[in-house]
Amino acid sequence: MDHQPYIPGMSPADPGPLSRFIPPLEEGVISAWLPPHASPFDAAEGRPGSWLLDPFGFSPRLVLEAARSGYRVLVTVNNPITRFLLEMFATPPSESEFKAALAELETAKKGDERLGTHLQSLYLTPCEKCGKEIQAQSFLWRKGEDIPYARIYECRECGDSGERLATQQDIDRAKRIAATDGLHRSRSFERVAALNDDDRIYAEEAIEHYLPRPLYFLHTVINRLDGLNLTSERRRALNAMILLACDAGNTLWGYPSERLRPKQLNIPNQFREHNLWIQLERGLSLWTETASGVVCEAWPKKIPENGGICIYEGRLKELAQEVKKEIPIAAVIGSVPRPNQAFWTLSALWAGWLWGREAVEPYKLALRRRRYDWAWNATALHAAFSHLFDLLPLGTAFFGLLAEPEPSFLTSALTAANAAGFDLQSLAMRTEYDPIQVLWKRGEHLKRETNAANMEDVQAAIYSHLLERGEPASYLHTHATGLIALTETHALMAKEQEFDEALRGTQTLIQNALSSNKRFVHYSTGESVDTGLWGLTDVTLSDAQSPYFRESNASVAALSQNDLPESLSDRVEVAIVTFLQKNPNSIYLEIEDDLYPRFPGLLTPSKAMIYAVLGSYAERDGAAWKLRPEDVAASRRNELITITAMIEAVGKRLNYSAHKVEKNLVWEADGQIQYAFYILASALVGRAILETPYSPEQTLIVIPGGRAALAAYKAQRDPALASRLKNYRVVKYRLLRTLVEVPVLTRETFEEQLASDPLERAKSQMIMF
Ligand SMILES: [Zn+2]
Repeated sequence: MDHQPYIPGMSPADPGPLSRFIPPLEEGVISAWLPPHASPFDAAEGRPGSWLLDPFGFSPRLVLEAARSGYRVLVTVNNPITRFLLEMFATPPSESEFKAALAELETAKKGDERLGTHLQSLYLTPCEKCGKEIQAQSFLWRKGEDIPYARIYECRECGDSGERLATQQDIDRAKRIAATDGLHRSRSFERVAALNDDDRIYAEEAIEHYLPRPLYFLHTVINRLDGLNLTSERRRALNAMILLACDAGNTLWGYPSERLRPKQLNIPNQFREHNLWIQLERGLSLWTETASGVVCEAWPKKIPENGGICIYEGRLKELAQEVKKEIPIAAVIGSVPRPNQAFWTLSALWAGWLWGREAVEPYKLALRRRRYDWAWNATALHAAFSHLFDLLPLGTAFFGLLAEPEPSFLTSALTAANAAGFDLQSLAMRTEYDPIQVLWKRGEHLKRETNAANMEDVQAAIYSHLLERGEPASYLHTHATGLIALTETHALMAKEQEFDEALRGTQTLIQNALSSNKRFVHYSTGESVDTGLWGLTDVTLSDAQSPYFRESNASVAALSQNDLPESLSDRVEVAIVTFLQKNPNSIYLEIEDDLYPRFPGLLTPSKAMIYAVLGSYAERDGAAWKLRPEDVAASRRNELITITAMIEAVGKRLNYSAHKVEKNLVWEADGQIQYAFYILASALVGRAILETPYSPEQTLIVIPGGRAALAAYKAQRDPALASRLKNYRVVKYRLLRTLVEVPVLTRETFEEQLASDPLERAKSQMIMF
């Protein structure tokens, strides 16, 4: 399989509304993938306006980016909240509409009071320093308790701010609101499910993730909506702000950690209750920053040929017949869905609150289902892929992104696609924190052969990958390698198998392939096979000629000792420096653009690795990177000559005879080699160890001080390198410069000096991948 390079993108500057439930994708990826794979021109008609299909509608941003690139995108969406997000991203109301809508809400009457004043009064709390009544930003709760234990505020009067214990006043207020909770709670169910509805109990369970105050707040606001007499644009704007308050109002906000992306409706042990009035106002700025202007219509309304979004609300199955007749699909794109019980359940709830029971009806199944396992996921994906198979012509490309990848998710997606007749073309993966980029093609309409899964095929593939990598890989990388091998041998799923059985079988097979073979080494703090890193026992020439390797990778089998594969991180270092030599003042994306095609598929280097190399060799001027003056090739060559001369001089002072032996400079006494210096301008310490013929006790690896952090980074992420390196002494140029200046130097003080300047840890915080 010829894996494509990973397509680099940019993390969005502003993650936008409901970002904790939306797949974290990089921007610029789909617009880079599209042109070479799907012409924006309709082939038959020779004019712009070819169609793309997103069968999942899981990522509004992906669809939007494709539409902005000049494509017509047909999207099937059955989650009413995702659909609303998509419409809002495409055609948001203007900022003035948002402001006017919020003002109308604020000035509406609640008894004698303004509604805004009333709602804000729910969060009043006395400042601990000046005693003034101010708005708490949030209250902090412990799971299972009926009063908050703390509050967080910023007092504008006296400047006091931070977390403070809850006062009696805070406790009384919380209790007062809780006393009327029953009524608001039952009204909240009724907007989602009728009294006699079988699903009512599920709505009740979901609403348990709301405390009395936010529930009171949300329902006071929602019940006033109809009385406000808003224009439809203002109503949309207000709905959008309320939607964010609906999410801010639940108990899924762990404290102090807030960066979690919840998948299950589990109440954290400590959580934050947001001030929802502040959240409504925050919604205003969040939404107005998404301004877009892409035409978005409901099927079958027309959209312009130069790009737009067409939403199909029904099921893919029903769409298949209509599409086949009417529109040519140039390619399929989509963020492949993974189960999110929290978001799906809450979506049903919020849809009921915002638009009433009828809006929940088509999506009500989401309320009922409590557990989504991977077999469920594979079954649902298989159904989608099967409908796609029916509606697409042979060979149509499907570019899928798997955000938040994990082994089971990847197994599920690849098995489902394969079983439905899609052929895997390429799989590119960076780290387990980045979306995987998968390319499928709609395959032949033949009856597919299935073969029995063979563990040796999987072992050979993993072995070959690790050898090519030259360093240990994450479990996810080895798992992906195993899956690809099973796909290629048509052994991902046996005939007559159910998905749960197939997924379990595949998972076990790959894990056994690793754990049952002594050539694989597990670097992990835990016992479990699917954690940590997997590497090879020390690679020698005979490994490279082993049957595993020969069979699975014939082209590399003719290796000699000198070109055993270097580690990925060493090769990446060389590639980046070579690129910057030739292309000074390149921006980061240009560096990635050059690098990724050199390391395609599963070899894609991480951003952390690229930055570690850049940090060692280059400096930044604005967005442009160039090599430091001392790291330009000519300067480095001169410095190597200087350092070599210094080592010779120090050796002579210590009464050694110094001379070169191949790449080493050795010091001899009484016909014995005492020290062998391997002098590097780079951080290729792995190569140095491989090439030096001398024992670790004799060898000194000499590197520029500017490489120390990079060498330490490599050792930190590669336990195999770390264990080889720990026997060697690494010396920095500057130590030798110091030694030249020392007036009295003996062989003993030389040894002491060596020990005084160890390979330092990087000063900045290290990322482990
Ligand atoms: Zn104060």
